[in-house]
Amino acid sequence: MLTQNQIDGVIAFHGHHCPGLTFGMRVGDWVLQEFGHAADEEIVVVVETDMCAVDAIQYLIGCTFGKGNLVFLDYGKNAYSFFRRCDSKSCRLVTRGGLLSDLREQQEKLDSNDTTGRNHIRQQMIDRILHADFSEIFSIVPVQIPMPDVARIHASKRCDHCGELVMETRLLNDPAITGGKNLCIPCRAAYNKKI
Ligand SMILES: [Zn+2]
Ligand SMILES: [Zn+2]
Repeated sequence: MLTQNQIDGVIAFHGHHCPGLTFGMRVGDWVLQEFGHAADEEIVVVVETDMCAVDAIQYLIGCTFGKGNLVFLDYGKNAYSFFRRCDSKSCRLVTRGGLLSDLREQQEKLDSNDTTGRNHIRQQMIDRILHADFSEIFSIVPVQIPMPDVARIHASKRCDHCGELVMETRLLNDPAITGGKNLCIPCRAAYNKKI
């Protein structure tokens, strides 16, 4: 179980308390027990959503966007793959769905101005997510992707079109496509439009 300090910390980090964040708290709590905390890069997560839950995961587990051990795939799924580098332990958590169906139905029937009613349902959702069995919320399944590489620092080079510095792995220099120029991603898109 998360301590009240951890819960308060997550809410302060995210800026509000919401059902999405609470899903992330449950993921964080489970992963802390099963995988531990990532002081550095020893645990990697691949998140398949950019919703509120990801903030709880960053705060609690220490997998952060900036550290490079949080990889975002824009799939719109409440699903998370975790990898531990020391022993290659891994798993994917994917939402079962249905936990909040009745509350969501009630929410849809409410008038959009009914703030009290909406807040009440929201709180019921948070409480239900917080207290449900973990197995009711998520399926624990094998990962479907290889463990991401360790984040590396790459040299920067200038884009031959805009002149801005770009990580060299993000520059494209394919003579057939760019005419031999090093082009950054937006300049490449503009270049493609011209030809
Ligand atoms: Zn939120
Ligand atoms: Zn450019």
